[in-house]
Parts: sequence; C-alpha cells; structure tokens
Amino acid sequence: MTSQDILPFTRPDIDEDTIAGVVEVLRSGWITTGPWCARFEQALSAYFGGRTVLAYASGTVTMDVALRLLGIGPGDEVITTPLSWVATSNVVLAVGATPVFVDIDPATRNIDAARIEAAITPRTRAILPVHLAGLPADLDAIDALAARHKLRVIEDAAQAIGSTWHGKRVGSFGDFASFSFHPNKNITSIEGGCLVLPPDADVDLARRLRLQGVQRSGLDGMDVDVVGGKSNLTDVAARVGWGQLQRLEEFNARRRELAQHYFAAFDAIDLEARGVQLPPRDLTQSNWHMFQIVPPPQVRRAALMQALKDRGITTGVHYPPIHLFSLYRARGFQPGDFPHAEAVGAAILTLPLFPGMQNCDVTRVTAALDAVLRQFGL
Ligand SMILES: *Cc1c(COP(=O)(O)O)cnc(C)c1O
Repeated sequence: MTSQDILPFTRPDIDEDTIAGVVEVLRSGWITTGPWCARFEQALSAYFGGRTVLAYASGTVTMDVALRLLGIGPGDEVITTPLSWVATSNVVLAVGATPVFVDIDPATRNIDAARIEAAITPRTRAILPVHLAGLPADLDAIDALAARHKLRVIEDAAQAIGSTWHGKRVGSFGDFASFSFHPNKNITSIEGGCLVLPPDADVDLARRLRLQGVQRSGLDGMDVDVVGGKSNLTDVAARVGWGQLQRLEEFNARRRELAQHYFAAFDAIDLEARGVQLPPRDLTQSNWHMFQIVPPPQVRRAALMQALKDRGITTGVHYPPIHLFSLYRARGFQPGDFPHAEAVGAAILTLPLFPGMQNCDVTRVTAALDAVLRQFGL
C-alpha cells in the first residue's frame, strides 16, 4: 500500500498563498508577535461580531487565562464534562480549582444541561461546557443557569469555530469563548488559539498574561505585577491562521457536505439498524469538526481500528473519559461515576473527515466499515 492509499482521519489544507505569505513574514525581519498577530486578531474580532479577541499560543492557555481573569483558584469549583480532550479540566487543576464533572447526554455527547443544577454548590464559580465535534452544547440552558446562579461561562469552543446556535456564531455572543488552531481543528495556525472576551473582562490583564505580565510605559518604563507566563502567538503562526480564516466558510461547507454523504451512505447499508450509533443529524448548527460513530459493545474498538487500518483507513479516539485517567482517579473519581461518558468513551470512533476528502473516500470508508462489521457478525 502506498502512502497515497492511506486515508488519514484529518489533514490540514494550507494553500500556496499562505505558504508564500509565511515566506514573506520570515524574510521581513519580524517573526514573532507583531503586525500579523494584530491583523489576525482584528479579522477574528470581525468574524465574532466585533467582540474583543486575543490570540494565544494554544487553545489550552486561552482557558487558563479566562479562569485567571475571573480569579478562579483554590477552593473554587468549575463544572465541566468528562468527555473531552483532557485540556478542558487540566486547566481547572492548573489554577488550583476543582473540576466537577457532570455526565453527558448520550444523544448529543455534550454535557447534559439538565444535570448541571444538581452539581452546583456554594463553591461553584463557572461552567465550562465543550462543543464536542463542533455540535454546540445547550447554551440556552447553560447561560440561563449561569445567570440564575451568578456563575460565569467559559465555552471550550476549541472544536466549534463556525458552528452556530440559533443562527448566531458560537463565540459571537455569551461570556468567554475559547478556540484552538491546532492542526486537527477546522482552521489551524500550526499551534495556537484565541479567546473571545466578554465586555467586562480586563483586556489589559488578558494581554499581559501572554508575556510575563509585563506592562510597558513610555520608551523605557517597565513593571511586572502578575506572573504572566509566556503564551504569545508568533507572526508566522498568525499569518497561517489569517490565511486559514479566509477559507473557513468554504472548509466548513465542504465538511457539512461530506457529513451528508456519510449519512446517506450509512443509511444505505442500514448502519443504525445494525446497532451503530451515528452522530446527531445536525446539518445546520455543527461545523462538523468530527464525524464520530459509536459501535455496539460486542465490537472491540481496537480490532475495528486495526481492520480499518489494514484497509488504509485511519481512525481516531476522541476521547477516553477524563475522570478515568490516573491523575483524576487519584482525586477520587472511579469507574461508574459517569456511565454515559464511560459507555460512549469506550466505543466512540472518529472517522476520516476533512475538507480535502473526496466523495469516493466516503464510499471507501463505508464499504470498509460494512465489510468489517460483517466480520463481527453485524
Ligand atoms: C484541541 C482542544 C483543546 C486544546 O487546544 P490546544 O490548542 O491543543 O491547546 C481543548 N479542548 C478541546 C475540546 C479540544 O478539542
């Protein structure tokens, strides 16, 4: 099998204009945070309806900054989902606060908003929902709960750039929203992320937290009054991100189209009747960051992945439930705590989906899945 026969589950699409633009930045004499970073932030701000947007080195540090801006730390609790990339709750631990998990709704695979209220205590400060695979969590319910209990919301929208909620872009309304530009995401800056700030946020502090907390005055004045870290985005990365942002709507439209092809092809082979759960059929709100199936328990996921791999098809696991990692078990979490997240997390499989994929690739995945499931007796 040649490498051309191998279908990855995702692949970034960097166009020649962006590559030429990066070369220009490299030759310009200014390669770290500078004019392109400012331009990328302005373009992002316009994309999110004029809200203040700051770029950072990752979509993890953005959440860390949001927590720090809110003064969340030791003794505070943050409610989040156990079915996410581990960054979501690691940032809560990193500031010394306590992640409080609420199980998912297996139909959407997002935090079950109906279960959040029972998890609120006098120590709860914020809700940190994740829009898994780009499907928005129930923001009506979450924002209403936050208002009623005087909590803040930090949306982990790492996977949800271009997703909408009642026709409005995720990030263009609400409290804090954090996005990632990791190469697997719908647009990339190689590594990077951005934070959309609410009107009451301390923008100056949010900036200073990117670079050692440094505050400059005049030509030669400098002060530091906070431990600021080092999480600025380079201009090389910002140039890549800016080039990608120009193509975001085109990318997401193609992702939606491919998702539609998957549904049609899977319906034709009766995948649901054979016990495989498909993602929610949302062709308007989701940006289709991932197309994930949940095969029935008798299918061993590793064997399924290997059989697909033997046919040149690469798949991914997003995600093992966070509370079952050693770090979290050591804090008292155990199997059985969040049964829906555990059942979904044990079986969920990410199929190939990226804008450069061809319709015939969908046919190929479908044929392979059909054949492999037959081998499993389905
Ligand atoms: C990618 C991702 C992150 C982290 O983003 P990085 O840019 O890799 O730091 C956080 N949460 C979720 C849900 C993600 O998918």
